[in-house]
Amino acid sequence: MEIKKKDIRALTKEQLRDFFVKEGDKAFRGNQVYEWLWNKGAHTFEDMTNISKDTRNMLEDNFVINHIQVDQMQRSSDGTVKNAVRLHDGLVVESVLIPTKTRTTACVSSQVGCSLDCRFCATARLKRMRNLNPDEIFDQVVAIDNESRLYFDRPLSNIVFMGMGEPLMNYNNVLKAIDKITSPEGLGMSPKRITVSTSGVPKMIKKMADEEVNFKLAVSLHSAIDEVRTSIMPFNVTFPLKDLREALEYWYAKTKNRITYEYVVWDGINDTKKDVDALIEFCKFAPSKVNLIEYNPIDDGEFQQADNKALQMYIDMLEANNITVTVRRSRGKDIDAACGQLANKT
Ligand code: SF4
Repeated sequence: MEIKKKDIRALTKEQLRDFFVKEGDKAFRGNQVYEWLWNKGAHTFEDMTNISKDTRNMLEDNFVINHIQVDQMQRSSDGTVKNAVRLHDGLVVESVLIPTKTRTTACVSSQVGCSLDCRFCATARLKRMRNLNPDEIFDQVVAIDNESRLYFDRPLSNIVFMGMGEPLMNYNNVLKAIDKITSPEGLGMSPKRITVSTSGVPKMIKKMADEEVNFKLAVSLHSAIDEVRTSIMPFNVTFPLKDLREALEYWYAKTKNRITYEYVVWDGINDTKKDVDALIEFCKFAPSKVNLIEYNPIDDGEFQQADNKALQMYIDMLEANNITVTVRRSRGKDIDAACGQLANKT
């Protein structure tokens, strides 16, 4: 009977050190292998050239290295790159590289499909198959960093967890991945350049505050009126705005970090003065930024972006209340890489 080998990258550095000691080797060997896995990006044990042949064979007998594979890469006319990423079990997720004049941002996935059911989002149509492992999240970042260097001559500068899935529903693995991305033995990126974007899971926002994470938080709000939010994000029944607001107050009290809200203004859904008043009331308790995101209709076209007049009303009213507001133009529309469009169509 074939023995199923374990993915070596599921082991912590301590576990790797212990493994080598049990094998009669030095704990230090664990550090060397760890560095090959997370810093030097080894895809095979053969790559580990400062490890003896016997040790590499022993690792080969016991473990596998489950690397992602970029199955298909598409480039948009605006420079955006979308990767269809095949996981070791054949499932596929997508990640996106978004270049601007000053930065390159990776938008990465945290789940295959999504646990939530936002009605305006293409990913919600795929049922959640499983959470991504830390190494699968890490590998998406490495793949995009390589593409950034290749196509734009600069390393990746920022990461947003805004791809497929709700990151706070895969909290432990997302945190482990961020740990590898930020540690000097991994990619050494500053946590200040990482944003975890959530649809608002109150309990997990409080947990993040308690754990004093130092990456940034963004909340996909889209409405500060319960009935409206529930109609477009049905899980709002389970996590109502009152609970979300309380969790965000807790977050702000602990971290003193500004909160970013992601917000789309849709025609006939949240385009009235009453909607803006509710938004201002919701976010005025702490320094806030509202990102008004351009929407990309998905297949059935049920949701349509509101007109410029409604957008301008939001901008004027938010600014009059000293709330920072930015308008984020959509990128990569022609390759279905824009916000809310990721649905494994490639
Ligand atoms: S918007 Fe985000 S949380 Fe909502 S269904 Fe899509 S991927 Fe999931």
